[in-house]
Amino acid sequence: MKNGITLIAGDRGMGYFVVHDDGRYCYVQSDWAFPGLAMTFGWSPCSRCQKDCRGATNGTRGCPRRTGDAHMNNAIDWLDAHCGDRITSDPGFFEPIAPSLNHDLVRAIYALAVSYYSGQWSRGYRLLCRVKRYAERHGVNLEVKTRASQQLLKRLVKRYAQLL
Ligand SMILES: [Zn+2]
Repeated sequence: MKNGITLIAGDRGMGYFVVHDDGRYCYVQSDWAFPGLAMTFGWSPCSRCQKDCRGATNGTRGCPRRTGDAHMNNAIDWLDAHCGDRITSDPGFFEPIAPSLNHDLVRAIYALAVSYYSGQWSRGYRLLCRVKRYAERHGVNLEVKTRASQQLLKRLVKRYAQLL
């Protein structure tokens, strides 16, 4: 899956949209958020200052050369000039979407951990706790046994039972 984000001008010049390749989008409209947004796309608050204050601000506070307001206005100018820009790798603007595990695999891992964990301080016990939490959060019913989960369990036992 592509993980790029694109900067789009907001409605009537108000704010900006950030659109992820996967279709999610976010509307940024607070002045205070503009410097951070611009930095996400490659702006740097002190790029027009002299070297001695480089990095002295996050773009909302003043630096030795410019006030916070001046930085924020520079950020807005920069954003306006860069609408349409896309960066190919989202540096964390959007939450990564965790791929969800197949329910039968979760059941198989649970059954493996329950049957083979070797004491309270073992890897198997930690796995057991983790898989229980995962099942609760994702609504996986661990009481159910399916053909697929039983088959997966056999494979897991062969490979991992001694390690737990
Ligand atoms: Zn500066």
